Amino acid sequence: MTTRAAAARRELVARRHRSLAAAGVAVCVALNLWVAAAGASGTDLTSRPPHQPSTRPTTTTDDSALAGTAPSAPLPSSTGDAGATTGGPRSAAAGSTDAAPTPGPTTTPRVVQRGDGKFTVLSVPAGAVQETPKTGRTVRYTIETEGGLGIDPTAYASTVAHVLSDPRGWQTRDKVRFVNVKPADAKHGTRIDIRVTLASPDTTDRLCAPLQTRGQVSCHANGRAVLNAKRWLLGVPEAYGKDVATYRIYQINHEVGHGIGHGHATCPGKGKPAPVMMQQSYGLDGCTGWPWPTPKPA
Ligand SMILES: [Zn+2]
Repeated sequence: MTTRAAAARRELVARRHRSLAAAGVAVCVALNLWVAAAGASGTDLTSRPPHQPSTRPTTTTDDSALAGTAPSAPLPSSTGDAGATTGGPRSAAAGSTDAAPTPGPTTTPRVVQRGDGKFTVLSVPAGAVQETPKTGRTVRYTIETEGGLGIDPTAYASTVAHVLSDPRGWQTRDKVRFVNVKPADAKHGTRIDIRVTLASPDTTDRLCAPLQTRGQVSCHANGRAVLNAKRWLLGVPEAYGKDVATYRIYQINHEVGHGIGHGHATCPGKGKPAPVMMQQSYGLDGCTGWPWPTPKPA
């Protein structure tokens, strides 16, 4: 990073801290390499120790990139996320194939910059849930999508449910049990801890404010794991290549990880699998990509 870029970065972080403190929220975003490459991000986003224990699922925000965390944040506020699990073909193959029912695109999909701003709670398609533990801390979630994205809502819902209930996921790692809230129950006021929401870049910016996601990154804010549709469709090529399916696993697990109380993690050592809460998009720091919360099998 150049001196000028570093100075700009410090100012950005300082501004973020101020705005977050004012808003009383902690944010963390997921930035991706695209942004990093554009010089908008730095590498010092992590202000909390890795893997703090989860507490309550409701208030964390995750912001993307730039962020530090609000000093007053009650939760491990994490920070950024972004992204991707990287890894080359080896890790991608290890992580993706059987977890994501939605295959990656073969041609560059069209990204709708602004959806209709309306959110629909989706039903979980039959067979999409792999397992739900009988015990553990219950985390109620909805799967929601903004309208007008041009993305098949059923395939999206299936992927989210599949990933959250995968034995390699948070249910195993944190002893939580994800319970889906059906559309009718959500309408009638059933408690919802995390709304896993697919949103257009413009809407992501709105939902993640005061964080500046700049249409590029995802975040967790105000009880929503906001999955930026641009990243959902394109992944982070610099980190994942064309393996968008594995990127999506990372995107879901990382943002929902913030939702259940996790902050950012760092690479534990050269050659080791990157923690899912690591901002893998900024680089792996010697780690190898891994999109799941549980350890990579040896
Ligand atoms: Zn994050």
